[in-house]
Amino acid sequence: MKTVLVRAAMAALLIATGPAEAGHYMAGPAEVGHHVGRAAEVRHHAAGPAEIGHRVLTADVLAASRRPEIVEGQDAHLTFTVGSATAGRGHKAYGVLKVPAGKDAGYDIPVVVLHGARPGPVLAVASGAHGTEYASIIAVERLIDAVDPAQLSGTLILVPLINVPSFERIVPHVNPTDNKSMNRFYPGDPNGTQTDRASFVVTREVVDKCDHLIDLHGGDLDENLRPYSYWTVTGNQKQDAISRAMVLAFGLDHIIISADRPKDPKASRYLENTASTRGKPSFTAEAGRSGPVDPKDAAVLVTGVQNVMGHLKMLSRAAPAPAKPVWVGQIVTVAADREGIFHPAVDRDAHVVKGAKIGSVTDYLNRPLQDVLAPESGIIMFVRALPSLKKGDTIANVGVVSTDPR
Ligand SMILES: [Zn+2]
Repeated sequence: MKTVLVRAAMAALLIATGPAEAGHYMAGPAEVGHHVGRAAEVRHHAAGPAEIGHRVLTADVLAASRRPEIVEGQDAHLTFTVGSATAGRGHKAYGVLKVPAGKDAGYDIPVVVLHGARPGPVLAVASGAHGTEYASIIAVERLIDAVDPAQLSGTLILVPLINVPSFERIVPHVNPTDNKSMNRFYPGDPNGTQTDRASFVVTREVVDKCDHLIDLHGGDLDENLRPYSYWTVTGNQKQDAISRAMVLAFGLDHIIISADRPKDPKASRYLENTASTRGKPSFTAEAGRSGPVDPKDAAVLVTGVQNVMGHLKMLSRAAPAPAKPVWVGQIVTVAADREGIFHPAVDRDAHVVKGAKIGSVTDYLNRPLQDVLAPESGIIMFVRALPSLKKGDTIANVGVVSTDPR
């Protein structure tokens, strides 16, 4: 076995003040890059009662499932319940996760349960934590009808739109009800604001009931993003091998190694990390950009989930791994240090050398303020899609290519 050398994917914050100060980094709390925390990892095994039963399903258990009085563990049951949705074997059920009212209003998170005709793993797929990352939301919407529960082994939980207020009000990055990112407050708090309470419900109803979780994201309204997955290194080799195989099966050819996520399941912050810290091999993937849904972006996410389901033997489907995935060992975030008008000089997926011009900033009368330079050589994972620029906004994420960490 090769030594695993993982460069912690610290989301460094570069204050891009032009040539004189290019290269000045301020290691930030991995907050800058938005969505997925762009760096950070986890591990831990906290097997809860909800896990019992999923992995012990055999023909005997299946037979036992016809005698409900002796069956324990939800997957062995003839039905599977998430929120208000209860599906029988071979069926699909629609429902909601009720976020109760508290300090502020409650709301319903839509959920679908596809309970396979045969037992198997429980896979949860979520999107819309950022409700304007449309390609990922549309991808999960399509999965609702793309998967036939009669052909399914195991159970598929689909949560296409966690952040309904963001979607309805077209507000990027946060839940406009409490101004919190809905991928930062896991495992949630039943006594907190709406985002905290929603995160708590998702943890209880989705994370606790699944064996694996895939969290889908994409370029938000202001992001021109190339597709990629994250592979979380928890330090638990067995779990990491499973999640790595899932990421490879998903099929995106760029994979960010993320090795510094919180380890404490009580402070897991991110949705994927909430599953990973509870011992459930899981990952995050992103595709799509700024506004209109490119069918290719949605399709790559739909196919990716189906590939993982093939890998997990939930569907009979071969999942070819990408021939030569590009491993990204570090993400360097370039953030704005002033307001102005941003003019990109590169497209998503551009390969840049350190010091190359990524774009420029002018004032509101077209007078040059600064050039934005690449802080490292790497790949433009996403670049700001809109001219609007205020201090602190992310201008670009540069992915520094690594070697295969295996
Ligand atoms: Zn996101």
